[in-house]
Amino acid sequence: MARTVIAGDFGGTNLRAALVADSGEVLARREVPTPAAGTAEEALASVDALLADVRAGAAAAPVAACIAAAGLIDAERGLVLVSPNVPSFRNLPLGAALAGRTGLPAAIENDASAAALGEHRFGAARGARHVLHATLGTGIGGGIVIDGRLHRGAAGLAGEIGHIVIDAAGPVCACGSRGCLEALAGGVAFARRARRLLETGAAPVLAALCAGREPAAADLARAAARGETAALAEIRNGGHLLGVGLASLVNVLNPDVVTLSGGLLGMGEPLLESLREAMAASAYGPASATPVRVSELGEDAGLLGAAAVALALAEG
Ligand code: ADP
Ligand code: MG
Ligand code: ZN
Repeated sequence: MARTVIAGDFGGTNLRAALVADSGEVLARREVPTPAAGTAEEALASVDALLADVRAGAAAAPVAACIAAAGLIDAERGLVLVSPNVPSFRNLPLGAALAGRTGLPAAIENDASAAALGEHRFGAARGARHVLHATLGTGIGGGIVIDGRLHRGAAGLAGEIGHIVIDAAGPVCACGSRGCLEALAGGVAFARRARRLLETGAAPVLAALCAGREPAAADLARAAARGETAALAEIRNGGHLLGVGLASLVNVLNPDVVTLSGGLLGMGEPLLESLREAMAASAYGPASATPVRVSELGEDAGLLGAAAVALALAEG
């Protein structure tokens, strides 16, 4: 019989949990709305209920559990330091809570780091030894796999690729620094680019799409798809900066492959093409040929990432 693990994914919208086989097959799944308000105890109670539900469907005892969450996660000590999706989880020993409540070896992990291991085990980086994964969403996250193992760093913070500085005099970032990759080409930054475009009056298609409401990154993509050249130029410029940032990381890490996931990929070929061109142009020597692949895990990327971490834990 296949070994199974319990995987959890704390998203901005839903808390999801699943029973996952070591083949990557999702055997059972549940989700509830993310408890954005309320106490940590209440949030933990919904986690409990989710996990119990998922586990009830298991034919044999799962071998480990992992919850992946956005934010600052000290995976070594099992501490959620800061969680943007569940603000009540501050300095919370979620790893110990998970182990205690499931009676299983348990871990928590930063969601982008887990995604990197998920791509390595089940997705677009299967068969690679070294992987750099980038999550291109509201913010920009990342994860690093070296020799098939997650690289966590001294305090679990490795892979925060959204906060490499591209322009030291650039806009202020959510982290407090200036000109970070995320501040220039994350989802929030693309929304700001869209707002600036609207102010110039050079984007009538975008203006009609937004009709008075605040533009989002996705609106730039829609305007570009309808032929608005100013919107397309913003996407290409953002893609270029992403490629420049990734090139620096590729020069440091020399991965076999770079994998990408996240909502900004909805911008399609214009983003990917400019990203790939800039990466190839800026990376040093043979590293410029490093392949860039889009995630194959889709909706289940978070769960499969957590499952990959749980399986690695069980395998030692
Ligand atoms: P997160 O988990 O960080 O919230 P997602 O991976 O869901 O992020 O991505 C959300 C970001 O992707 C938002 O900035 C949103 O505007 C943008 N987005 C969503 N759909 C599209 C699309 N079709 N084209 C471009 N951007 C998109
Ligand atoms: Mg990470
Ligand atoms: Zn930053």
